[in-house]
Amino acid sequence: MTLGPSAGQWAAAVAAVRSTGPDDEIQLICHVNPDGDALGSMLGFGLGLRRLGYTRVRATFPGDFVVPGPYRDLPGVDLLVPEPDAFAAPRLVLVFDVASESRLGALAARVADTPASVVLDHHASNTGFGGVQLVDPRAAATSVVADGLLSRLGVPLDAEIAECLYVALATDTGSFKFDMTTVSVHELAARLIATGIRPGEISRRIFDSKPFGAMKLTGEVIGRAVLEPDAAGGRGMVWTYATLADLARHGQPPYVLDALIDPVRSVAEADVSVVVKQVAPGEWSVSLRSKGAVDVSGVAVSQGGGGHRLAAGFTGYGEAAEVVDTVRLLLDEHLN
Ligand code: AMP
Ligand code: MN
Ligand code: MN
Repeated sequence: MTLGPSAGQWAAAVAAVRSTGPDDEIQLICHVNPDGDALGSMLGFGLGLRRLGYTRVRATFPGDFVVPGPYRDLPGVDLLVPEPDAFAAPRLVLVFDVASESRLGALAARVADTPASVVLDHHASNTGFGGVQLVDPRAAATSVVADGLLSRLGVPLDAEIAECLYVALATDTGSFKFDMTTVSVHELAARLIATGIRPGEISRRIFDSKPFGAMKLTGEVIGRAVLEPDAAGGRGMVWTYATLADLARHGQPPYVLDALIDPVRSVAEADVSVVVKQVAPGEWSVSLRSKGAVDVSGVAVSQGGGGHRLAAGFTGYGEAAEVVDTVRLLLDEHLN
């Protein structure tokens, strides 16, 4: 179950790309509300296709065409088009960092309708959609899988491709801190840095640069966090929430809330951390993290979401407190 792609799957993915003509349309797609891994692995791979001579490559993601500020300067960002401008009937589709079709919105049909499709992913909860599956749950980021396919296609890493793959790797490993930070992760990072990219400069831009309003908003939302030491079978849970009104008051876009889980999950008294982020009236994007005692992907999957054992998410409905009540109950169920 935890095995990565087979030799046959790698060969099928290489064949899917090689059987595409240089002027054929190739559509790249990543998940809704894209993060550093989704955008970095997709754009890095797209640049690799350009190096191979493919001239008609577009990249997109479902929903509002909002690229989080830190990713707007990524190399290859010119490949990005809004969802309505994606190729209607591409020859080949490649999908990045998507565990299930629900994360593709209306673009799920584009994947299903395209005869040649390749899914590059690293979620254990991946549902197995698409034509060729390159899914490696042992990979720290989808960019590890993208690197594997690029090297099999004979694309050498250059600084632009490397910057994209590095951003993806650094974001999904929490800057090389999480449990998935293996020898091979550092070996890939070394190969990427060897192209001449500047990790310090990239990290400042991606992680350590935010508008003043985002800092004030973060302070307010952290200020209302609640610690429940008895939750999660006594392992403890810490949670907070942020509303659309909070965002509006500080003049901030929704993606600034995605970094909030990091300070919240640093609370020593709680194994589980939860951030409930309003996306519409009565609708919340829920981020779950565990330090190791609890498999939060089980909770997320039971609510129609997905993710990894220690980092997962789902869409919740009702009031924020009701969503937290649901998580509290599910944690107890999953532990008993
Ligand atoms: P996040 O908390 O948004 O950083 O997401 C943590 C992990 O959970 C990522 O691997 C996401 O792919 C996954 N995830 C988050 N929200 C959802 C969702 N609504 N459906 C499926 N997977 C999700
Ligand atoms: Mn992602
Ligand atoms: Mn990822």
